[in-house]
Amino acid sequence: MKEHDVIIIGGGPAGLTAGLYAARSRLDVLLLEKLMPGGQAVTTSLVENYPGFEEGISGPDLMIRMDQQARKFGLNVEIAQVERVALDDGKKKIFADGKEYSVRALIVASGAQPRLLGVPGEKELKGKGVSYCATCDGAFFREKRVAVVGGGDSAVEEAVYLTKFAEKVFIIHRRDQLRAAKLVQERALQNDKVEVLWDSVVTRINGEQLVQSMNVKNVKTGQESQLDVTGVFMYVGVIPNSDFFDFPIDRDAGGFLITDQNMQTTVEGIYAAGDVRSKPFRQIVNATGEGAMAAFSAEKFLENQSL
Ligand code: NAP
Repeated sequence: MKEHDVIIIGGGPAGLTAGLYAARSRLDVLLLEKLMPGGQAVTTSLVENYPGFEEGISGPDLMIRMDQQARKFGLNVEIAQVERVALDDGKKKIFADGKEYSVRALIVASGAQPRLLGVPGEKELKGKGVSYCATCDGAFFREKRVAVVGGGDSAVEEAVYLTKFAEKVFIIHRRDQLRAAKLVQERALQNDKVEVLWDSVVTRINGEQLVQSMNVKNVKTGQESQLDVTGVFMYVGVIPNSDFFDFPIDRDAGGFLITDQNMQTTVEGIYAAGDVRSKPFRQIVNATGEGAMAAFSAEKFLENQSL
């Protein structure tokens, strides 16, 4: 079986940048992506803090550009969902969609996915009013009342985006302060269509075929109320896509992969970059930087192996 120099798992900003750098280093590099390149950034309506785009750029447009740039330099991309990564006599093996790959250096850039809130009605009404992607589903809620759950960058940015369509957007946040960047907060708080329900948690989402309402509890007063909304957008954080290793590799309490400053995980020749990595800030700009560092580290590792 052919042994690739580098395989990258995941085609988000980190993976595509690692691919760009590895391809420019003339390594034999393959990127495996389960759906289509772009990662979570594709679900971002407007990216305003990625340098070089002073008017901002939509998440999908930015990711199309990153994908095209990497392919231009020779990055090969295969659509395949990685099920298992194994060490076989020291050799790194990847199993994806019934195929087996062998690789010398692996870059894990598999990202993260939205965390479920875990309230009754959420799973049952997913796709029937419960959504994790305003960019994908926002337009279905023209002149409707919707709620966004969470107080981080995603929740508050996407709440503002949803005001393009919805008549009213509630932000349900469990504390009395938002976590999102200040500028994003200002935009939301100044928008007449946005109302924040502070100190509030969702206890149930109601509806037969489609979402009709949700129950909200004020955690300070204990008071429960019913909020009539037809859409609920969940942004309560992310969980890593890191459960395919069948050997020990260090992760933090949330399952994010631990690396050193060169993106090296605790297994030699395996690197991690982007949202799957344990770190305090999850931004497209640092995902791309980490992707570049992981590719450099992989290249160095391969050079040292050949000595
Ligand atoms: P996040 O920053 O982890 O925020 C999650 C939010 O959900 C927090 O406000 C949190 O409340 C709340 N939450 C968590 N668990 C909850 C629960 N069980 N019940 C109710 N509320 C709950 O997640 P994110 O907004 O999805 O962002 C993920 C990462 O991507 C972050 O690092 C973020 O900065 C980054 N990001 C950046 C941008 C940008 O730079 N433009 C855009 C999007 C995302 P507390 O505040 O009380 O903890």
